[in-house]
Amino acid sequence: MNTEGQMVNAYVAGRGNLSPEDQALVARRAKAMGPAYRLFYETPVHLVRGEGVWLYDKDGNAYLDTYNNVASVGHCHPHVVAATARQSAVFASHTRYLHDTVLDYAEALLATFPSELGHLMMTCTGSEANDLAYRIACAQTGGTGFIVTENAYHGVTHTIAGMSPSLGAGVNLGQHVRIVPAPTSSSDVGAEFARGVQAAIDDLQRHGIKPAALIVDTVFSSDGVFVDPAGFLQPAVAAIRAAGGVFIADEVQPGFGRTGAAMWGFQRHGLIPDMVSLGKPMGNGYPVAGLVIRPEVLAAFGAKARYFNTFGGNAVAAATAMAVLEVVQGEALQDNARVVGAAFAEGLRALAKSYPCLGELRAAGLFLGQDIVTDGAPDAALTGRIVNDLRAARVLISATGPLGHVLKIRPPLVFSQANVDHFLTAFEGVLKRL
Ligand code: PMP
Repeated sequence: MNTEGQMVNAYVAGRGNLSPEDQALVARRAKAMGPAYRLFYETPVHLVRGEGVWLYDKDGNAYLDTYNNVASVGHCHPHVVAATARQSAVFASHTRYLHDTVLDYAEALLATFPSELGHLMMTCTGSEANDLAYRIACAQTGGTGFIVTENAYHGVTHTIAGMSPSLGAGVNLGQHVRIVPAPTSSSDVGAEFARGVQAAIDDLQRHGIKPAALIVDTVFSSDGVFVDPAGFLQPAVAAIRAAGGVFIADEVQPGFGRTGAAMWGFQRHGLIPDMVSLGKPMGNGYPVAGLVIRPEVLAAFGAKARYFNTFGGNAVAAATAMAVLEVVQGEALQDNARVVGAAFAEGLRALAKSYPCLGELRAAGLFLGQDIVTDGAPDAALTGRIVNDLRAARVLISATGPLGHVLKIRPPLVFSQANVDHFLTAFEGVLKRL
């Protein structure tokens, strides 16, 4: 078990070390919310408060958050909290009325994109953004075929769950969906990945299905984090465009400066996508997401369809997202991701010299994927143990990748060098005790 729906470190009843009070909460949760939810960790964490890179449990214990990319400007950032509160108190309605906030935000956000990407449509979740991208891609290309990587995760709607193989064999893929091998660390990864995409295009066409799009998470997080060499996506994008399809960059994970090198993950690849889906960090916890689109790609859909999303782009969402963008830019968090991320990677590489279970490390800014291996082979059980042992040491991370053997390290972007040192000390403590 390994990704969003399949977690190596998921809570299993009867394991772990839960207090009677938390056992009662687990039971209430199962009764009220049903069987489809999962909890992180053998001993789930009962959180009550967050501040910056720290989360606090009900007993006041502090946990270093090295995982949550949603609170990317830090938990409960005062500038963001104030903006949400201020806007909630004056006007909290939707995009069918003229109002400044969503336009101010759209203009400020679009200014961070290449000029070819000229429109922003607002949603509440990354899933909705990808679902909208699907509809727009079909309208624009006249096709229906979608290509995704073999352990991709793009969201929860019916269509998009059907493009999210990481949900596991129990969730069917769409009939017009083809999966391609994820990138690898091969020096020939660009050509290799493009060959997979071309084979999927050929297969779609052989079945009489016109390709509509290639969609990828530009850091391939659920595939295990594949980021280098920057630029390797170009031949695959050329292939889908040559087949009449569009390229959708899913920036729900890497967007808003996380990779350090750029505001958007696709920029590391020297590409200009046709559409870019956004989510998670966009509202620092407030549900706001969106889709950035080339005007010519939106034209066919815009001519046929009317779009309204009750909560997407509402005034509170827009004010909150604006405050997040102001913090990302005002506190130079992209630079921080680059500098602190590089130090983080260096620290992990130094540890790997003493601990052979630390295999390959792949990293871009504050998105790091650390392979855990035994005798060089992927070891999901050991990975799960490390994640749970770190939780016991009050440091929060998770695991990813098709084999569940990649530590997923993705802290808020306000992470400091002192936080890196704290992580590395706790991590070495865990490794020593294995
Ligand atoms: N795309 C990617 C790459 C994601 O990681 C996620 C969420 N994990 C989504 C889309 C879906 O976003 P949401 O949960 O906001 O619907």
